[in-house]
Amino acid sequence: MSQLIDPFGCRISYLRVSVTDRCNYRCQYCMAENMTFLPKSDLLTLEELERICSAFIVRGVNKIRLTGGEPLVRRNVMTLFHSLGKYIESGHLKELTLTTNGSQLAKYAHELIDCGVKRINVSLDSLNDKKFESITRWGKLDDVLNGLSVAKDAGLEIKINAVALKNFNENEVNDMISWCGKEGFDLTFIETMPMGEIDGDRMDQYLPLSILANRIREKWTLEESSYQTGGPASYSLIKETGKRIGFITPLTHNFCESCNRVRLTCTGILYMCLGQNDKKDLLTPIRRSKDNDLLMEAIDEAIGRKPKGHDFIIDRIGAAPAVARHMSVTGG
Ligand code: SAM
Repeated sequence: MSQLIDPFGCRISYLRVSVTDRCNYRCQYCMAENMTFLPKSDLLTLEELERICSAFIVRGVNKIRLTGGEPLVRRNVMTLFHSLGKYIESGHLKELTLTTNGSQLAKYAHELIDCGVKRINVSLDSLNDKKFESITRWGKLDDVLNGLSVAKDAGLEIKINAVALKNFNENEVNDMISWCGKEGFDLTFIETMPMGEIDGDRMDQYLPLSILANRIREKWTLEESSYQTGGPASYSLIKETGKRIGFITPLTHNFCESCNRVRLTCTGILYMCLGQNDKKDLLTPIRRSKDNDLLMEAIDEAIGRKPKGHDFIIDRIGAAPAVARHMSVTGG
């Protein structure tokens, strides 16, 4: 079957799937403490998620990332990892991976390896236990550190993702780089994005990564790296640690020229851009027909509408977020 090519000539080879909007943490920049989640009956079943993933694989998607919410808190999620892992075995998928807060890794790391997962992204915004508890509201740093240690011993390659937050973790940056170097982890900093209502004002949290990168260069030698994922991050190699450092700068750059990805929610909605509201319903076509003709038609129509860029902006205090849905809906 034909490959998925967007209107700007980019081949869509990467699908991110938010398998649940629920999370066991309430990171302050991500969610309000008192979140209302979707009723469980609104969620696609794991079989339906697999069916949509398979359709994308047939159309040339060769990388799938499961995310959320917290993917590892969805009941029986390993069933989905196992069924998608078969495409790793057959060579149709080059990569099956996940983004996780790390809290459940001690339980699942070995099984993830069995499913063909090789690399994972773990979100961690502070190495200080009090600060970690305060930013996640409900998290315990030790659970994550223990999960990381089990995952590393199991043989998973790890990249730490940290959201750069003004007056919160900006002074921890050098410690995080040293720690990641020691542990053998890559590290990526992310600018906070205006997605969904939260309890505070995003202007209070926003720290442009250009400022952070300059500070990092005062202490570390950043060497150019050709490493690219087709996504928003630009990567360098830290000479002193030998590990990669990435910067994801959605606010200071509209990083979309080479975007190769689309995002599926746990309710079967396809978003063609993280920072835009246009979407396509894939639930109706799969529930209306047992074969995939309607689904393929819907996917083609959606990819034909993939936009050139996003319109994130954080500059109006008290203004509504640029994108009303939370990151946990579309998956980070
Ligand atoms: N629960 C998993 C985790 O913690 O990684 C996966 C979902 S979480 C929504 C994915 C990533 O999005 C995390 O690294 C999180 O820090 C990031 N994130 C959430 N809201 C964000 C926002 N408004 N701006 C920037 N990053 C955000």
